[in-house]
Amino acid sequence: MRAFKAHLRGLSPYPYKKVEAPVKLDQNESPFDLPQALKEEALRRMARLPWNRYPEIHAEGLRRRLAAQVGWPEEGVVLSPGSNLLILALSLAAESVLDLAPSFPHYAHAARVAGTPYRAVPLGEGFSLDLEALLAVFQGGVLFLPNPHAPTGALFPEEALEALAERAREVGGLLVLDEAYREFAGTDLSRLGRDNPHVALLRTFSKAFSLGGVRAGYLLAAPEVAAVVREVLPPFVLPAHTGAILEVVLENPGYAERVAALVRKERERVYQALKDHPTWRPYPSHANFLLVRTPHAAEAFAHLLAQGVLVRRQDHYPGLAGCLRVTIGAKEEMDAFLRAAFGVAYA
Ligand SMILES: *Cc1c(COP(=O)(O)O)cnc(C)c1O
Repeated sequence: MRAFKAHLRGLSPYPYKKVEAPVKLDQNESPFDLPQALKEEALRRMARLPWNRYPEIHAEGLRRRLAAQVGWPEEGVVLSPGSNLLILALSLAAESVLDLAPSFPHYAHAARVAGTPYRAVPLGEGFSLDLEALLAVFQGGVLFLPNPHAPTGALFPEEALEALAERAREVGGLLVLDEAYREFAGTDLSRLGRDNPHVALLRTFSKAFSLGGVRAGYLLAAPEVAAVVREVLPPFVLPAHTGAILEVVLENPGYAERVAALVRKERERVYQALKDHPTWRPYPSHANFLLVRTPHAAEAFAHLLAQGVLVRRQDHYPGLAGCLRVTIGAKEEMDAFLRAAFGVAYA
């Protein structure tokens, strides 16, 4: 095959394998679907749309509403079918991509697909930011940093993020703070980007907003940064029906707060319970999942799956030997997880 760029040869597929199980705790999804009344209202609005017509080129109407709601200049907002696509667009545009090891795998994957030079800085002791190493390596390009961090659930100190934001300004780079899990931590880093065009925020409707299947996310950035991302994305990228769903969601954001509150409560209950496990060790988390260290990830994973509980292995990541990631689901799901975890032959 001579059709494609040489750097795409031997690219490994995105690390996800679909497995069926009664209790699904492997994708950090919300355990709760969008409330039925909101679904029905969204369907009514979809039915009223002219399906033969293209949507707005950059979802301007929705963008205006979202901008007003989050208090951000309208021209700095980019809506997209999933924040993963924004990560790809940023990686295509970037001179270089820098992230952490371990981190959300899509940053590295997108950089490789884009053929953009890529580097990762390992986390420090106890999943901390190695600020000194990051400041030394961040000489421009795009730095992707999730806070709360995935896949550890750690929350980084704001002073460290401020230092990186200042560094981005000094070197003319872009610090992209991925706030996919912010609702589960109660954090909002947007102030770091308000007077600094070298900081952008990524957000998603896939987690607390319970819309993983809908595919929607957005970027908050300086207008000149947003303009580049819009040009890299195809025109009319946000489907009209997605726009109808988001309109309803933005008019009724209260349910996401209830989802986040329930998940936080369940996360603390499961974390405390796991502290009594003879061999497994949970790490404190600010997201909708727990990272759990076991003596043997493959055995622990298989044991849970045999009990009908699907989690995600993380032991392929640097520093995460033995680790599993457990999404926080509904109470009954977490009861099933705990029963299976404590029934383990202490593998
Ligand atoms: C889940 C997740 C996202 C969301 O991606 P979407 O494409 O919006 O579903 C983004 N960043 C991180 C770190 C995530 O874990």
